[in-house]
Amino acid sequence: MAKVGRTTVLEKAGGKFHIKEMPLPDPPGPGTLLMKVEMCGVCGTDIHMWQGHEGIVVPFPAPLGHEIVGEIVALGEGVENDNVGRPVKEGDRIVIIPLVTCGKCYACTVLQEPAKCLNALAYGHQSIETGFTGGYSEYLHMNIPNTGFLKTDLPPEVAVSLEPTSIAVSGMKRVGVTVGDIALVQGDGAIGLLTMMVTKEAGVSKIFIIGTQKDRLKLAEEFGSDLTINITEVKSLEDRVKMVKEQTRQGLGVDLICECAGVPVAFKEGFQYLRYGGRFCELGHFTDTGSVEINPSTDICAKMATVVGSWSSLPDDFIRALQVLELRKYPVGKMITHRLPLERLEDAFKAMAGDKILDGKEIIKAVIAPE
Ligand SMILES: [Zn+2]
Ligand SMILES: [Zn+2]
Repeated sequence: MAKVGRTTVLEKAGGKFHIKEMPLPDPPGPGTLLMKVEMCGVCGTDIHMWQGHEGIVVPFPAPLGHEIVGEIVALGEGVENDNVGRPVKEGDRIVIIPLVTCGKCYACTVLQEPAKCLNALAYGHQSIETGFTGGYSEYLHMNIPNTGFLKTDLPPEVAVSLEPTSIAVSGMKRVGVTVGDIALVQGDGAIGLLTMMVTKEAGVSKIFIIGTQKDRLKLAEEFGSDLTINITEVKSLEDRVKMVKEQTRQGLGVDLICECAGVPVAFKEGFQYLRYGGRFCELGHFTDTGSVEINPSTDICAKMATVVGSWSSLPDDFIRALQVLELRKYPVGKMITHRLPLERLEDAFKAMAGDKILDGKEIIKAVIAPE
């Protein structure tokens, strides 16, 4: 086993990434395990943390990255099975469940909302003092005893999408997709595309998507969208609303909105497409990117809309998400447009925060693949 490994460290919000070499835990302590990272997805949430948006507090300097797939290098004492009880050994491919909850606090026990655990810890959201706890790294030390993980034989370029898929599953469970629903996804990023996949598997009869990026929307068609609208081509909101409503029963609007764009104006726009009595899932604003004006009467009260917020995801969401990915029915691997070494992490962040073009190509999903 190697003695040292490299990880990336973000100095502070808006700061630079550095590469740091550190000794590897040998052997990993009881209840922990060491993974060799194959891929870590560059997530929009990380971009927001880098930009210093409100919503998530990270103790800088910090190693980021939480969408992590890799191979087990060494198992600490007592680590024998994954979260569904399958035995694991060195060399197995696993995906981490990055949020670790305490199971004891008020949120976990009384409210039964462990995603809001008062003592939660998450990989990719801790100080570098904790060691190899971020995914933009050669190694990941799953050093919080009982960290969840799942074994899979999916290729890494598909398995790396498990965490964002679990976000979609969590949202759709909360809002309640009903068989035969006509649904509209706002946002053509990874969460938008994966939410399309999840709603289809949950039984919607039609799925529409609205976005801004040509390549992403082309891929959305391969995922099976029944109507694809590019805002840069259909510039008028009125025209977009007409296009959507024409495809719905009685022209009244969709049954379900999945807001995955993560821009406040999309939230306001979503209500325009929603039918009376429809349901609206807000899962795109994991970080605070600002406010938008809503009309409480026409948007919510008179519309009798149900608005559901969804935050993070839990082991059950990961398990269901993995089952969907393992159907191998959707071109999930095609979302990965850029594989980059550790040294190019900042390039990916800059491009994602800007025009989403890197090396002359539109980013759908960038991943860091060390080596
Ligand atoms: Zn993420
Ligand atoms: Zn708790």
